[in-house]
Amino acid sequence: MLEVRTDLPKGLLDLEPNELSKVLKGPTLIHLKGKIDEPLFLSTLLHGNETSGFYALKKLFKKYDPNNLPRSISLFLGNIPAASEGLRKLEDQEDYNRIWAGGDSKAEKMATSVVDQMKAKKTYASIDIHNNTGKNPFYACVNRLLPEFVTLGSYFSKTLVYFIEPHEALSMAFSKFCPSTTVECGKPGEGIEEVFDFIEKVYLSTEIPRKKASELDMKIYHTLARVMIPVEATVSFDQDDKDCDFCFIKDFEELNFEELSIGTLLGKRNSKKYEIIILDETGVDISDHLISYEGDKIVSMQPLIPSMFTKDLKVIKQDCLGYLMEKIEL
Ligand SMILES: [Zn+2]
Repeated sequence: MLEVRTDLPKGLLDLEPNELSKVLKGPTLIHLKGKIDEPLFLSTLLHGNETSGFYALKKLFKKYDPNNLPRSISLFLGNIPAASEGLRKLEDQEDYNRIWAGGDSKAEKMATSVVDQMKAKKTYASIDIHNNTGKNPFYACVNRLLPEFVTLGSYFSKTLVYFIEPHEALSMAFSKFCPSTTVECGKPGEGIEEVFDFIEKVYLSTEIPRKKASELDMKIYHTLARVMIPVEATVSFDQDDKDCDFCFIKDFEELNFEELSIGTLLGKRNSKKYEIIILDETGVDISDHLISYEGDKIVSMQPLIPSMFTKDLKVIKQDCLGYLMEKIEL
């Protein structure tokens, strides 16, 4: 399933993300040799419609000759079939950012092979580039709070999210052996310049310093829980809609990274048939502690900080409605 090569396919950098299947058969790992052996690992298109990372790579290889690199680079181009369709994933596929914790499926074995190769190469740092569907600030995610991880994230954004669930994410697997981050650079097509600057800064560095979060002036959040809607339930983003099971407020995406006080209206529930599912890191449903149903109103019972709240119905069904976070001090 995985194609491994040591050069960039001819014409790759002239293509659009939805044309990559012209030169790539599927998920592809490309090891490009540079003067310093330990490679920078760059991953993008794990979600086929999240294209900013690929555009940032185009810029990178316009500036740095792939045949004469100061440091080795290993590139992973993920879900090529989904990219061809402009989709996060194809209907019958696994989510390519949920296959990195081992396992026996073809996709999981492919992911394990990538991890094994990169571990053997003593990867310098790992950057996985994503976009999201909701309105969010640019932010970096880490799965460990060691100073070198926080410093790596700080090179992209002063907003840092720490999570350990979903544990099947790529950055989680890499964080076991090198500084690793996932960057979220707004909606598809946004943030190309910022991602390029970030990659270049890491690429040209000779070490990732172990700075303290307080020195870096970071806002750090911890993802506490994942919010899901039962798949059979219908959802809309018009609180006056009477036809859907859940009708969230129109400005739902505006709530991301806002500190919501107790009693904030999130939306309405038109039937008591379904309840919102909020799972903590151990998989326990904690929705009873966080939200309440007052008549048809859905309101917060605790101060909440949402992230990645989305209005994209497909993402809500395939993945989740979003996450809830708490602020942490290091
Ligand atoms: Zn993504």
